[in-house]
Amino acid sequence: MIPCLLTFDIEDWFQVENLRPLFPPESWEAIPRRVASATRRVLRLLAEHQIRSTFFVLGWVAEREPALVREIAASGHEIASHGHSHVMPMQLTLTEFRDDIDRSRKVLEDVSGRAVVGYRAPSFSIDRKRLTILEGCGFRYDSSHHPFSLHERYGRLGDLGPPVVPGVYALGERMVELALPVERVGPLALPVSGGGYFRLYPAALYRTLVARSIARLGSYLMYLHSWEFDPEQPRVPGAGRVRTAKHYVSLSRTLPRMRRLIAMLEGAGASFMTARDFIERVVAPGASSPRVEGA
Ligand SMILES: [Zn+2]
Repeated sequence: MIPCLLTFDIEDWFQVENLRPLFPPESWEAIPRRVASATRRVLRLLAEHQIRSTFFVLGWVAEREPALVREIAASGHEIASHGHSHVMPMQLTLTEFRDDIDRSRKVLEDVSGRAVVGYRAPSFSIDRKRLTILEGCGFRYDSSHHPFSLHERYGRLGDLGPPVVPGVYALGERMVELALPVERVGPLALPVSGGGYFRLYPAALYRTLVARSIARLGSYLMYLHSWEFDPEQPRVPGAGRVRTAKHYVSLSRTLPRMRRLIAMLEGAGASFMTARDFIERVVAPGASSPRVEGA
């Protein structure tokens, strides 16, 4: 069995850090939302393949699109937290960070009726102090470690110690870190998890990297944003060449590439599961955890 975790960050297209100078938070309310329709494309794709996955949902989105959050949960997927306001945690004080995650978790649990035990930081912006706060708030896992450096254990989080299982690290007593995979090719460290890399790499290279990652780790964790499934989203004048390229490049490739990736993973014997199931079944089978037993 190869555990495969397809995970999705759920925020609207105008909330990404890359476009922040054009869309400050004060402007968000007035912009037509596309997050529900984009996310429903993801839900349809997963339903076609009977895949369960984890959705890291922004609290701001859950407040405005509660029906969407209920739909995700009713489809058998895990609801996890992407924070509330999509400010990078490293730009928040520790108190502000705690307030942000508390607020997001409360709305996500109220709307979905399920316990929320997972977190992913906007822009993978996290450090050990903030992870300690997450653990104190009852989270069971974080998936914000995107190790670009040459040694996987020495990303922004410092030395995470030996993995519990490949790619998974213990944090404190009750929490684990699910690191996003990176493969080394000569001197290069190439992320194999998603986002712009997924859209930009030559398809054959991406598949090769995924196969290598599975051979090395025995599992596969990827992420995408639901806005990446929405190639018709508005183009903004004044975004500049770099920001435009980063955000809009090859959006029309996301869905067909995802179909091919899923077919490849199915052919390789993937067992698609939520991050929470992965932790309960693979990382810590038999561990008791009152918080995970439903809200
Ligand atoms: Zn995000």
